[in-house]
Amino acid sequence: MRKIGVLTSGGDAPGMNAAIRAVVRKAIYHDLEVYGIKNGYQGLIEGNIEKLEIGSVGDIIQRGGTMLRSARCEEFKTDEGQQKGIEQLKKHEIEGLIVIGGDGSFRGAQKLTEKGYPCIGVPGTIDNDINGTDFTIGFDTALNTIIEAIDKIRDTATSHERTYIIEVMGRDAGDLALWAGLADGAESILIPEKADDFDDVISRLKRGHERGKKHSIIILAEGVGSGFSYGQRIQEATNLETRVTVLGYIQRGGSPTASDRVLASRLGAKAVDLLLEGKAGRMVGIQNNKIVDHNITDILSKQHTINDDMYKLSKELSI
Ligand code: ADP
Repeated sequence: MRKIGVLTSGGDAPGMNAAIRAVVRKAIYHDLEVYGIKNGYQGLIEGNIEKLEIGSVGDIIQRGGTMLRSARCEEFKTDEGQQKGIEQLKKHEIEGLIVIGGDGSFRGAQKLTEKGYPCIGVPGTIDNDINGTDFTIGFDTALNTIIEAIDKIRDTATSHERTYIIEVMGRDAGDLALWAGLADGAESILIPEKADDFDDVISRLKRGHERGKKHSIIILAEGVGSGFSYGQRIQEATNLETRVTVLGYIQRGGSPTASDRVLASRLGAKAVDLLLEGKAGRMVGIQNNKIVDHNITDILSKQHTINDDMYKLSKELSI
């Protein structure tokens, strides 16, 4: 293998730049040429491809977002779209592709691999919703952004007797809400993986209020429903003043944490190693602090699950 390509796809995540940098530097270290594909699969179809040098990825390790930009591309879900992508790669004599993104992006990589074109996936998403890896690139940064925001809300909360509902990202996965809830000592955590026990939420709030608690915090993943309508229900059921904050897109931004930079560097480098070993259709990940790789098809066939022990602990610590 002499030439490889790299793209970022789907929702962006802090640390994607650090992963791109690792891919480029590791490849050049092994005397490979590296090509950056702009705008994900859309750019691949359009041939928006340029050679990356050592200096192309200088001064990006600390930046959020992705220098290659990202996009969603419906056409790539079709056979014709994938074929166009392969033609572009062949035209540029690129022999293997590293895809940094979430599970949707991995489906694209899986399709290319099935069509005989070798791809390796690097998990980059703030949601931490990918099987076969304990953490995805961007999760730690997003989590810390949430914690910082909640700490600020707490400061104002202590001045008033109120219930605060914080809506965080996570359409199908509750990892951000669960970790944030544990890290911030929330009264209740509402996540898509667990049935919403409204009575339990209310009785926790009432118990806290009775023992003189000044304020309560409830963290809700967006997949559970709207924070505003939940807040209204809570206020009606408890008669406690309720305020809702939807954190929104700030969760995707910001300089990646040290953990995310290190993870991105390790995973990006491993992806290059796998291509050099002639592997295809694999996803890299971290499990028990070891860098591992798995078959992408196996990873995509399993439902992401929440850590039940952590969920149980969150309830025990917020009695
Ligand atoms: P993420 O990678 O963050 O999960 P998406 O689910 O939006 O984000 O997927 C990103 C892109 O991956 C899509 O816009 C599309 O181009 C490609 N993709 C998603 N699903 C498939 C599929 N089944 N086949 C081929 N490409 C896909």
